[in-house]
Amino acid sequence: MWDRQVSIWPGKKVRRVDCCDPWEVANYLKFDVQEGDLSFSDLPYGMRLGGFLNRSARLIAIADQLKPRTKRFTLAHEIGHILLHPGMHHHREMPIHGLGEPREPVEPEELQANHFAGCLLVPTSLLKRAFRSMFKVEYLTMTDDVAYALLGEDYMSLMNSPPYSLAFHRCVGVVERFHGRQFQSLVDLFQVHPTTMAIRLRQCGLVRR
Ligand SMILES: [Zn+2]
Repeated sequence: MWDRQVSIWPGKKVRRVDCCDPWEVANYLKFDVQEGDLSFSDLPYGMRLGGFLNRSARLIAIADQLKPRTKRFTLAHEIGHILLHPGMHHHREMPIHGLGEPREPVEPEELQANHFAGCLLVPTSLLKRAFRSMFKVEYLTMTDDVAYALLGEDYMSLMNSPPYSLAFHRCVGVVERFHGRQFQSLVDLFQVHPTTMAIRLRQCGLVRR
C-alpha cells in the first residue's frame, strides 16, 4: 500500500503508519466494513460476537460496542482470514483484544490470523524505527538502570518478575518518558493493547531479558 499510495490516496499526505490502519486495508481489498449490534438469537444468552466475515458479500461486520483498540484488532484478524484462508467464507468471531489473551485460540487458523493482525498493526520495520527514535538504542535489556529509568522507585517489581513474564516488555510499550525524553508511547502510536505491543517487542528482539 505504501508503494501505491499515489493511486490509493490521491492528493493526500500519507504517513507509513496509515498503511497499518485496518479500515484502509479492508477498503483497499474492496471489503465493506460495517459496525452494528451483533447479538444474534442463536447465540447463548448474553453472548455477543466481536465480528464476522462474509466473503461472498465482501463484508466484515464489527460489533459497535467494542472499545476502539479491540475493534481494530478484531478487524485486522478478519483481514488475516481474507488473505490467509481463501476457503473461509463465513466466519464468526468473539471479540479479540489482541495477542496473548488469557483465552488463546488453539485452532491454527485463529493463531495465524492473530499473528497476521499483530504484524499488520505493528509492522516490524516501523516498530524498530519508532523504538530507536524513542530509546536511542537497538534493543533494551533488563538491567537495574533500565528498570529504574522505566519505573523509578518501583523498579524492583520488574527485577523480581518471573523470567517468562512480559512485565518488562509491557513497561517499554506504555512508557512515555525515558532518560528525560518525552514521547508518545508505542501503544498509543500503534493503537494496540499493552500485551500485543509486549509480544511484538519480544518477537522483534527489541526487548530482552
Ligand atoms: Zn478468526
